[in-house]
Amino acid sequence: MRYCPTCGHQVEQRIPAGDNRLRHCCPSCNAIHYQNPRLVLGTIPTWENRILLCRRAIEPRYGYWTLPAGFMENDESSGEGAERETVEEAGARIELGEPFSILDVPHVHQVHMFFLAPMLGPQLDPGPESLEARLFNEADIPWDSIAFRTVSQTLRWFLEDRRRGAYSLHTATIRYEQRAPAPADARTDVQTDARASQADAEAGARTDTRTTAPGARSGAGGRT
Ligand SMILES: [Zn+2]
Repeated sequence: MRYCPTCGHQVEQRIPAGDNRLRHCCPSCNAIHYQNPRLVLGTIPTWENRILLCRRAIEPRYGYWTLPAGFMENDESSGEGAERETVEEAGARIELGEPFSILDVPHVHQVHMFFLAPMLGPQLDPGPESLEARLFNEADIPWDSIAFRTVSQTLRWFLEDRRRGAYSLHTATIRYEQRAPAPADARTDVQTDARASQADAEAGARTDTRTTAPGARSGAGGRT
């Protein structure tokens, strides 16, 4: 932030009285502009044995596959936001299920949250943010072309839980980690894209995972 959204004066970074962090402060109107992490909401839509993925028509990660997800809007609940994004990006009709994964991504100031979402039918109608939407069998998931680490981690957890027949809430923190130069045979998803700072950060990320006790959600997951 360079200019005050309230009055347009140039802001300065300082620690306000009683605070302990640098904030954007306006010396003209004295407004303090706090910046806090944003919530990204998504779903894991499933129809029979298949999982819905969308191919992104926007940066970052244009052309890569993702679960339907996007930023939470004001005046909606997390579940409403996840369902809205699923309709907008894939045109899929779902029955919103339980929260399945919550991933903190501190270096990009985001928290990603995905819900279980059995589909009510196989019909799809991808919106302008998607090049295409498609239902994938597990064997066909394009692991080398998944847009974000939070999505690939959520897919791995989902497939593990589905094999076990019990779905539980999974959480993780994905941290940025400086990497050595990529070897010649580096996988596609660890290459960086200068236009996509979020994707860059996630590509170099380390994941610390935690999982709640299994069994708590038996049968909560979609049709199989
Ligand atoms: Zn101001």
